[in-house]
Amino acid sequence: MRGLPKSKWPPRDGKSSLAALNSGAFLARKRFGAGGPEAAGGCEVSETSLDENTDQLTAATLGPGLFRRVFTALSDLVMPPVCLVCRTPIGSHDALCAGCWREIDFIRPPLCDRLGIPLPFDAGEGAVSAAAVADPPSYDRARAVAAHTGSMRTLVHALKFHDRHDVRRLLGKWLVEAGRELVLDADVVVPVPLARRRLVMRRFNQAAILAREVGQLAGICYEPLTLERTRATASQVGLSRGARQRNVAGAFAVPPRREARIRGRNILLIDDVITTGSTVGACARALRRAGATRVDVLALALVTDRAVIPS
Ligand SMILES: [Zn+2]
Repeated sequence: MRGLPKSKWPPRDGKSSLAALNSGAFLARKRFGAGGPEAAGGCEVSETSLDENTDQLTAATLGPGLFRRVFTALSDLVMPPVCLVCRTPIGSHDALCAGCWREIDFIRPPLCDRLGIPLPFDAGEGAVSAAAVADPPSYDRARAVAAHTGSMRTLVHALKFHDRHDVRRLLGKWLVEAGRELVLDADVVVPVPLARRRLVMRRFNQAAILAREVGQLAGICYEPLTLERTRATASQVGLSRGARQRNVAGAFAVPPRREARIRGRNILLIDDVITTGSTVGACARALRRAGATRVDVLALALVTDRAVIPS
């Protein structure tokens, strides 16, 4: 990526969250300049302004003031920092212990530019895998933080099934770093919608939590209601790739009242896990039907067997 600072991805250890924060501030300034997203075309839903984001990020970079240090020390006494995976006491919040860190299989370049899966050798910028050539996805590019194994699998389950919303800050930073090329190009960040029945049972959409974090960190408009499910679908768990595609075909749409905010814009679609790409593919087709110029996909985890690359 010409003109960008050297990427710090993947992080080398659990102390690199500050680098990710700095990168978030850089991405926000790079995208919008001093005027922020409002000056760059309007942002209806973002909960904090770019300036607030940048101030928070700058404060984190320069170091906390006396009040913040005292407050942090007191809160650490009440709630000592623990590893987000195994709850072992550690030195800082929103981090992992060394043992759990080693169990994350970060997805490292060189990558297939379309599917985001690792390539066996570096074939240059924009290289695509044989799988992407044989069966091109309906989205433009996909990227994921790590393989869906070890500590990443535990973190995804913590967010999804155990109401562990405290993991969202670390996961949001990782998403922004792993998907920095996609984030730089994005106008709008949109979550994959949850089925209505699951939303009632779970009370929250984990993809929406992640999308909001990415939007706030990078200063991108967050539009949680852009996609909706048009019909109920069976669970994708245990289905073959073909059955998954049939299960979600035509199951998503952009409501007509929201098409104007999608038309001609670059969409960053967020999900927690990409398995075969069927769900995000169906969402990407719906976004394109509504007039989106580009649809990129960013996820926490990718289900990938390194020996058999999925298409
Ligand atoms: Zn741990």
